Amino acid sequence: MPIEPGQRVLLSMQSPVVLAMHPTPFHSSNDAPPIFLSPPHMTGDEQLFIDEAFRTNWIAPLGPNVDAFEREFGETLHALPCCATSSGTAAIHLGLSLLGVGAGDFVLCSSFTFVASANPIRLLGAEPVFVDSEPDSWNMSPSALRRALEILSSAGKKPKAVLVVNLYGQSADYGSIRPICDEWNVPILEDAAESLGASCLGNPSGTFGDVAAFSFNGNKIITTSGGGMLAAPSAAQITRARFLATQAREVAPHYEHREAGFNYRMSNILAGVGRAQLRALGSRVAARREVFARYADALGSIPGVRFMPEPSWSHSTRWLTALTIDARLAGTTRDAVLSALTAQRIEARPTWKPMHLQPLFAGCDFFPHESGGATRDISARLFADGLCLPSGSSLTVTQQHRVITAITEVLCGNRVQL
Ligand SMILES: *Cc1c(COP(=O)(O)O)cnc(C)c1O
Repeated sequence: MPIEPGQRVLLSMQSPVVLAMHPTPFHSSNDAPPIFLSPPHMTGDEQLFIDEAFRTNWIAPLGPNVDAFEREFGETLHALPCCATSSGTAAIHLGLSLLGVGAGDFVLCSSFTFVASANPIRLLGAEPVFVDSEPDSWNMSPSALRRALEILSSAGKKPKAVLVVNLYGQSADYGSIRPICDEWNVPILEDAAESLGASCLGNPSGTFGDVAAFSFNGNKIITTSGGGMLAAPSAAQITRARFLATQAREVAPHYEHREAGFNYRMSNILAGVGRAQLRALGSRVAARREVFARYADALGSIPGVRFMPEPSWSHSTRWLTALTIDARLAGTTRDAVLSALTAQRIEARPTWKPMHLQPLFAGCDFFPHESGGATRDISARLFADGLCLPSGSSLTVTQQHRVITAITEVLCGNRVQL
């Protein structure tokens, strides 16, 4: 069916794979339709950009949608130069390359994160040294960072970069982290894969790093199904990123190469999806914050339940609503709540398992938030007790009440009428 300009196209929110796993009709009331953690939320306008790409035969990687997406995306970041990539992981890999990370180097990296933050460090032949979270934002602890820099420097070691992650829609505390990194003259790679649309001290997430990486994976606040973006204040760095991302091909009529590059550029079709998604970013942030507010209203006074805090300097997107359940106060463990949700076909997830606890990074150094005392390893605690709830911008109030009822039942042991 041809699509007229401006016509809304309803695209299925659920992938065929997911539908195939849940055959209809459902047989009992326990077989309610699944509720997903963070499903893609299409505007309907994506198809117009895709059709235009097909009509003009811009199917190859690169093309007018990529150029426009980079420009429009940069405009949301105080006009930063940008390079669209095939994934967020690719953007991190490229970003670390731009900062000169290579064999024998080490990089200070947030421990409480997804593995995609840390893998590119190893891919470049460098080693990560992990830094704990602080309790106020759940992101990199400035005091642990300072201690790491002091201790390493007294051993004659200087990190090539600090990789700071902004988790669950919330920026790290760059008001503290930036001056520390400037003092030690170490560049920052800002992993903003989860924080597009957030801000710190009134400035957009992604504008605090010497380079910043974003992700448009299917579960992120906006998606191109798969894709990423690298942003940097230096236009020369972005020019070099484009060069490295297209096989590091030298200017010559033939194929001339002096260094090893990557094939990391975004396709023109997917950039079209990104352009339509970007226009909806503001409403997506508002919707996710509303989801968070409803959870916090309904569950925030249950003993032992604590929601991820939002410090005064932060404006979070609440990409995922995250909370901790203190089993001693709640009388129920995080895992029991998780099982209860899973039994009702509600997709929830434990918070990230810190990198310093992963077998992959056994033996890597780790700097806790406080040295000594009972609360030293903050990220380990946040992992032990932490839970992420369904938080999609398309989550309906009815769906959310199902989640709230399921949690209230297991935490309060009785059926609560909402
Ligand atoms: C999603 C994510 C990435 C990786 O992005 P992809 O586009 O999936 O490669 C990196 N870091 C964090 C913190 C993420 O959540």
